[in-house]
Order: sequence, then C-alpha cells, then structure tokens
Amino acid sequence: MNIPIVDLKVQYQSIKEEIDKAIQSVIENTAFIKGEYVQQFERDYAEAYGAKHVVSCGNGTDALYITLKAMDIGPGDEVITTAHSWISTSETITQAGANVVFVDIDKDYYTINTNLIEEKITKKTKAIIPVHIYGQPVNMTEIMRIAKKYNLKVIEDCAQAHFAEWDNKYVGTIGDAGTFSFFPGKNLGAYGDAGCIVTNNDALAEIMRMFANHGALIKHEHHTEGINSRLDGLQAAILSVKLKYISQWTALRIDRATYYSALLNGNPDIMTPVIHSSSKHVFHLYVVQVKNRDKLQHHLKNNGIASAIHYPVPLPFMKAYEYLEYSPEDFPNIYATHQKILSLPMFPELSDDQIECIVDIINDFH
Ligand SMILES: *Cc1c(COP(=O)(O)O)cnc(C)c1O
Repeated sequence: MNIPIVDLKVQYQSIKEEIDKAIQSVIENTAFIKGEYVQQFERDYAEAYGAKHVVSCGNGTDALYITLKAMDIGPGDEVITTAHSWISTSETITQAGANVVFVDIDKDYYTINTNLIEEKITKKTKAIIPVHIYGQPVNMTEIMRIAKKYNLKVIEDCAQAHFAEWDNKYVGTIGDAGTFSFFPGKNLGAYGDAGCIVTNNDALAEIMRMFANHGALIKHEHHTEGINSRLDGLQAAILSVKLKYISQWTALRIDRATYYSALLNGNPDIMTPVIHSSSKHVFHLYVVQVKNRDKLQHHLKNNGIASAIHYPVPLPFMKAYEYLEYSPEDFPNIYATHQKILSLPMFPELSDDQIECIVDIINDFH
C-alpha cells in the first residue's frame, strides 16, 4: 500500500462538480482580482466564525505581517512567540522591524509554555503571537490574562487550526486578531496561495484592509504606503465551496486521530497526541513521539508510508537566528522533543484500512 502524508486529489474528486463550476464562473465573469467572489468569501468566513471582519490577503505569512504593521509594531519593539512554529511566525516580526523573543514549549501540547512568558516581558514588549500548532489551541485563558496584565496585543496564528476551539470559542476570535493560511495542504486549503485575518476591531480591520491594498481603501487615495497582498477570485470561489464542508472534514480528522490513538496506545514506544481538556484539537497534523524516530521513518518509507517532521530544526536553532546565540539549554523542551516527533499521514479521507496498515507497520518495528 502507498499512503501519502496528505491526499488532496481524493478531496477534489469528492466535490469536483461544484469546484469546476465555481472556477468556470469566475473566469466567465473575469472577476480575477477583488470583486464579487472575494467579497462573498469574506462574508462567508465572517459568518462561519461569528466575527465582525475578515480581511483577505495573499497568504498566511502576509496575514501576520499586515497585522503587525497595522498594530504599529516596529523598530524598538519586542514580540513574544513560540520556539516551535513555521518560520513565518518569527520572520514577519523581524520584517516589521521588531525583535523576536522566543519562548519554549509545553512538552505535552507542543504549544508555547504560558508559564515562561512573563519572565520574557520587558518594557519593549508589545505583543504575543501564540501559534495553535498542529491544530491544538494554546491556553488562551492564560495568554489573555498575561496580555491584559501587561497591556499587550495578541495575534493568534491560526494557520494550522481552522475552527479549533479553546473553551468553546473559535481560535482567532479570542485575541485582537487571528491570522489564517489557506495553503493547499492546510485544513481549509485553496488551490494556490491564500490567507486572511479575522478581527472584531473596526479600526484595526480598516487599517489592515488599507495596508494590504497599497495603503488605499478607495482607488488612487493612498493614505500611506502599503503592500500588494490580495486574495484572487479563483481562490475565493474555491474556498467558498470548500467552507461548506469544513465542519464535516474537521469531524473526520478528529475521528481519524482518535482511531490512530486507540490502535497506537498499546505500543509503549509511541507517545500519541495529548489533548487539553479545554481544547478542541482539529488535527492539521497527527504527530507522535518515538525514540528511534529516524529509523522508524525509514521503516515506514520502505513500506510505502509517507511521514514528515514538523519541524526538523526548531526556530531558535536555525541558521537564520544564529545571531541570537541560543543553546539547547535555553529551550530544553523543544530541543528534546524535536528529535522524537514524527507526523503520520492525516487527512479527512484517510480510511480505517489505511490507518490499520500504518499502525501494523509501526508495531512491526523494534
Ligand atoms: C502555513 C503556516 C504559515 C504561513 O502560511 P502561508 O500561507 O504558507 O504563508 C504561518 N504560520 C504557520 C504556523 C503555518 O503553519
């Protein structure tokens, strides 16, 4: 059996007619940039999230950058984030002109360790960017308590966590803003690059919309300089179709993860994901920990099973952050964990047979 880490084709086939029709209508209406399909998707996503504003943009990285700029975060400021994320989270802080301050993870949940945040706060700290990594929400009760105490902004990086919940609230609606990626492999994925920001703050929404559009809300009226970051009509129309299925797909992801864990829990060499009692984890990735990780990955590959490491090098130890001169003792949890994590195939259409086959191959490995 050959099992990919994510199968985007099987999902397309299940909604092919609707998708093809949507694409055709965008082309027939030549609504390629801005226009009715983009506006419709912004309304659809805002309604699904119960949020006041959705500002669409080019991708999830831009979503972070636009938000930081709109919050006037820049030179002389510090922004706190997790040591365990995709580089977009930290590189956009630097691009805005501010300094990145990394915090180690909680070793059960992989999310930022909220007990270690306060000791990193200085007079220069302006914001916290919690990342709901793998689809597991950060402890937002703690994040909001700290933010309130020190008067900090909160930008939730929800790129891996569409419709995940903390305390029955959607992530992205708890902080000042939530940023989303619709990269094809994400839980809600377009057929190219796409992203958006969700917020209930009217003034912030207006500045973000303006900044993403060359500093203008009305054509040729540029209040400031901005950037060109827009969602295109084709992606918007595709996303509006796929949004109708997201709750069904999320339920399937959770169900698939539950099945994996039930089968793997008998194996003493494997640590399955731990879910916080206040969170609804949406399993963008199904990540286990195993001591002989590289050997197991090789064994899976020899048996036709794809797997991946998210991520092989934690952010503070990347060449890009060499200048911060960190050592493993600065981030002991992510340092120990990153050598053991392995992402197994995860997508809503993953069958019982496929999971059983993967687990058999894992249990067969010693
Ligand atoms: C994917 C991702 C991003 C960036 O999204 P793009 O759409 O690829 O720019 C940002 N943060 C996290 C945690 C991600 O997984």
